Amino acid sequence: CKRNPNEPEFLQAVREVLESFEPVVAQRPDLVKAGIIDRIVEPERFIQFRVSWVDDEGNVQVNRGFRVQYNSAIGPYKGGLRFHPSVCASVIKFLGFEQCFKNSLTGLPMGGGKGGSDFDPKGKSDGEIMRFCQSFMTELYRHIGPDTDVPAGDIGVGAREIGYLYGQYKRLRNEFTGVLTGKSLSYGGSLIRPQATGYGLLYFTQQMLKSMKNDSLAGKTVVISGSGNVAIYACEKAQEMGAKVVAMYDSNGYIYDKDGIKLDVVKQIKEVERARIKEYAARVPGAEYHEGCKGIWTVKCDVALPCATQNEIDAEAAKALVANGVMAVCEGANMPSTPEAVEIFQKSGVIFGPAKAANAGGVAVSGLEMCQNSARYSWTAEEVDAKLKNIMENIFHNVFDASKEFGAEGNLVMGANIAGFMKIADAMKWQGVAY
Ligand code: NDP
Repeated sequence: CKRNPNEPEFLQAVREVLESFEPVVAQRPDLVKAGIIDRIVEPERFIQFRVSWVDDEGNVQVNRGFRVQYNSAIGPYKGGLRFHPSVCASVIKFLGFEQCFKNSLTGLPMGGGKGGSDFDPKGKSDGEIMRFCQSFMTELYRHIGPDTDVPAGDIGVGAREIGYLYGQYKRLRNEFTGVLTGKSLSYGGSLIRPQATGYGLLYFTQQMLKSMKNDSLAGKTVVISGSGNVAIYACEKAQEMGAKVVAMYDSNGYIYDKDGIKLDVVKQIKEVERARIKEYAARVPGAEYHEGCKGIWTVKCDVALPCATQNEIDAEAAKALVANGVMAVCEGANMPSTPEAVEIFQKSGVIFGPAKAANAGGVAVSGLEMCQNSARYSWTAEEVDAKLKNIMENIFHNVFDASKEFGAEGNLVMGANIAGFMKIADAMKWQGVAY
């Protein structure tokens, strides 16, 4: 705590992981002796930089940029960039730390990293977004590369931003390489990457329901928070699997549609018009809009999929979900449930899929995008989707098996932390310590 003052999100993420390691400490004293646990919590490198740019009125604006290169034991650093006013060192470090374990769980050779800026893309013109991205990359380019560190998107960073960032990297380096993932198809993007986190979340949830409850998503009522990239494609796959999604939100408020969300209307509002979710209720008869986000967790559902941001489900929200009979909670966002909320779910017998495992589909397909770029080849949507499904089912089984092996069968939080850790720890041990 002394080494990381004023970093609550980071400390929360580390505490959760370290709490899972008790059985590892007992069974693998060699890893403790090699200092793996002390080393793994400390990022290899943390970069902070100034991003100055000029707005449409000609005023100079200054934001702060970050990149944490957390752990490269099993591959090049890999993890998204987040543009949101709440971005700070604590948020970037928590995300980078979690990313290491998630990437390890995919089975692909990717280390962990994360980055972003406190820049707020909301309400900015296209020109402002482009100038910001160019300025951001003018510093970041010297720290990244296709075999060093490969950023992707996250909150506030989609295909548009990745395009501007990529264009600037190419100009500066005079190289056409796979240095970013989440690119558009016309210049090296992978089919299914936009859908990957949401689809992957549903493949994981389906497997979790099947293995742990002998059940499925068909006929279930689902609540999904957020209405961004992850939420939209989680909704699409949930509907394909026969579930009814009844509520979604953005940072202003939530919509409730008892007949099931019309996803084409949400896509039009959020992806095309970049407008507010409130619009939905004005366009779909019978739909309701409620100001404020928190009320969404009082909507009765069988399955809850938080897909917006960290700590969106607190103890009060968890209690409301349990009181309404939720059977499964699976995290699409990173660390959306507070530790108190997770404890409530686990004590109430709600099956709980932690983010590290459940939302790994995005980075998994980013890994597949890197493979395709290296081979200068592209796979069909069916090929990528089949690989994604296979990866997510394997993640579930590996995580479940780890929970069993270490004496906590069905505790997927513990299983994900341990299964993700083991591969990195072994690699670090083999690679020795630098004095
Ligand atoms: P987007 O920017 O596309 O969407 C984010 C959504 O969450 C928006 O609806 C946004 O509302 C809402 N939101 C953001 N911050 C808050 C907040 N503080 N309070 C309430 N609502 C909020 O991001 P993504 O869908 O890409 O990411 C969502 C989550 O999934 C994040 O936790 C991210 O780290 C995680 N994730 C994303 C992956 C990806 O591939 N994109 C991969 C793995 C994890 P509004 O529009 O009003 O801001």
